[in-house]
Amino acid sequence: MVNVQEKLNRLRFKIDKNSHISIDKSKCVKCQSRACLFLCPAGLFLLLEAELFHNHEGCLECGTCYISCEQKAINWNYPRGGFGVCFRQS
Ligand code: SF4
Ligand code: SF4
Repeated sequence: MVNVQEKLNRLRFKIDKNSHISIDKSKCVKCQSRACLFLCPAGLFLLLEAELFHNHEGCLECGTCYISCEQKAINWNYPRGGFGVCFRQS
């Protein structure tokens, strides 16, 4: 049986140099839950010395971060046409 990591490894991405997700970090300092760190299925959020970082490469376009952000700090869009994740091989 194929596990989740194996399925993720089969995905292909066409990465746009412009991120389709931006974060207002000034709102993150008030955040208690840091939900994005735990809920992003691709693990794209990282906390380094109390500063939040996000890498849009590898985004699964699920919208979980946007929905779960209690501070509404995330500006979320789909990638531009022709860019982003390709699920055909998953
Ligand atoms: S959940 Fe939202 S406000 Fe909290 S750290 Fe993540 S992006 Fe910032
Ligand atoms: S849309 Fe989904 S995969 Fe992309 S950064 Fe947000 S939670 Fe992670």
